[in-house]
Amino acid sequence: MAELTTETSQRNTHAESSQLCQVCRRNSEVQVPLAELNKELQSLVQTNAVTSETIARICPRCLALFNRAQEQLKSQAEIYGEGDRALPTPLRMDADERFTGRGVTIAFLDSGFYAHEDLTAPVNRIVAYHSIFSAEDDPTFLQTPDVASWHGMMTSVVAAGNGYLSDGLYRGIAPEANVVLVKIGKTGRIPESNIQTGMQWVLENRDKYGIRIVNISAGGDFEQSYLINPLSGLVEEAVRRGITVVCLWEMQVSLLVILSYLPQAPHRVSLSVALMIRTR
Ligand SMILES: [Zn+2]
Repeated sequence: MAELTTETSQRNTHAESSQLCQVCRRNSEVQVPLAELNKELQSLVQTNAVTSETIARICPRCLALFNRAQEQLKSQAEIYGEGDRALPTPLRMDADERFTGRGVTIAFLDSGFYAHEDLTAPVNRIVAYHSIFSAEDDPTFLQTPDVASWHGMMTSVVAAGNGYLSDGLYRGIAPEANVVLVKIGKTGRIPESNIQTGMQWVLENRDKYGIRIVNISAGGDFEQSYLINPLSGLVEEAVRRGITVVCLWEMQVSLLVILSYLPQAPHRVSLSVALMIRTR
């Protein structure tokens, strides 16, 4: 069924000149009706599309991605069985598996963390843990259940988990990266001053741990020009020193605005949004 695209697509091209793919939201003149795919593939697409709407057609790029994903899942069927499943992140994001993050350290600023085995086995890749709340600046805190720790565990494992608990299947995009975990919040909203404190620590310890990427999964307090906002200044300083700063997309907070101002700043910066975590 994988090669059915040409005839179907051409037919469809005449029917509708241009439309958005329901799965990737790219504009594609060529669309493949989902009904023409095999049932398993239809189900896989519907399960992993980030939308609650019924998928009627997809673009050829998405079709190729889901075909590859289906082949990989079949190779693991003995372990995980058949049926609808959430795709592992690298499969869903069509990541180039030649790049694993080896030799790169990613720092995470988040409310809290847990030492998930996908980060610690067979080799512990948590190279440092720091809490801006000094009483909790102790690696044993990573083993202690805490209501604020799930969010940072999610972001760090999505990015750098190696799938140890799932025989390598549910790994992150950078499964060989080292991580530095910086706790900047407790329950509830994380104030911008906490993000600043965490960023400052990252800048001071950048060389010690070889930090090249910082992921900030927290928002700012309010919209303010980068010219006077201290967090913008710190982010710009980080970028100037060669660190890639990543923030979450679609957060209703000012951090997005702060970052969007940065390209106009005196120093050239490049910002990338590498993590887009949405729930259905
Ligand atoms: Zn698509």
